[in-house]
Amino acid sequence: MRAKLAVYWTGSCGGCDVSFLELGPGLLDVLSQVEIVFWPALVDAKRQDLERLPPRSIDITLVNGVLRTEENAEMVALLREKSRFLGAYGACAHLGGVPALANQGNGILEAVFGPGFRPAPPFPEAPEDTPPDLLPEALPLDEVVPVDFVVPGCPPPAGLIARFFEAALSGGLQPGQVFAEEKALCEECPRVREERRISRVLRPHEVLPDPEKCLLDQGMVCLGPVTRGGCEASCPKAGMPCTGCLGPTPKAGDPALALLSALASLVRAGEEGEAAFPEENRILDGLVDPIGTLYKYAFAKYGRPLRRLARRREEVRA
Ligand code: SF4
Ligand code: SF4
Repeated sequence: MRAKLAVYWTGSCGGCDVSFLELGPGLLDVLSQVEIVFWPALVDAKRQDLERLPPRSIDITLVNGVLRTEENAEMVALLREKSRFLGAYGACAHLGGVPALANQGNGILEAVFGPGFRPAPPFPEAPEDTPPDLLPEALPLDEVVPVDFVVPGCPPPAGLIARFFEAALSGGLQPGQVFAEEKALCEECPRVREERRISRVLRPHEVLPDPEKCLLDQGMVCLGPVTRGGCEASCPKAGMPCTGCLGPTPKAGDPALALLSALASLVRAGEEGEAAFPEENRILDGLVDPIGTLYKYAFAKYGRPLRRLARRREEVRA
């Protein structure tokens, strides 16, 4: 019997839905083993079709995207009820992803369109088409419904998608499984890391990196030491620092704190035998947009203490 499969996107760029094509001919194998019961990007199925399905009648549901609206939350609750296994697919469903960087402010609509802004229905004769209300903040999937497994990445790389389908279609899904490595990306990166001291933090466009040496050693902010392996270090191999899309390793926890600690230990600050570096306190100033860099995908998950601090500061100032 074919496994019944559902795929749904919430607040997503669409890249996760397209990522299945990365399987190449392997996609045909997957499609021959599944029955697609709900996948709005691919087949014409509506919410009412989903509502008509019996509880737990879908074998596997993959949700991609951050939860941004009340409708997103309702749909994933419905999918949870109808599914035996439901997983977060991609960095947004897993950790909040890039869209959840909007959680830095207090209300994205007001920030963009001004105080009191409310979206109007596009057609006055159909007021029921008013866009759904936003949730107070953008949320990862597991903060709204229980999640059985995670296929991480932005989007998930082909090797991990293949690993996921192999397990799912052979009945080998384990509760709590994350389809990536527990060890850090550095362990699969071919670049040579010597943990050299750095005297400047560089952005990718400011340097043509040495092709053999570790990017962090060359002053670029590479999240490899705190990020799960599983993508074969595809970005560092191409000369770009890892931005952490597979999520932090269990050991690292909060990726920003873990990487800041690694960076602080690399900053060159007047070692013995060297002239003291006069600007040592300013080295990390080169870290432009620290939140967007260190929490690029994980702000919704790990950024709440910072948000509380920022609010407290505003209250004290007011
Ligand atoms: S380039 Fe990045 S992933 Fe590769 S060894 Fe250096 S820090 Fe680790
Ligand atoms: S190197 Fe980092 S950012 Fe690039 S795909 Fe791998 S985990 Fe994602």
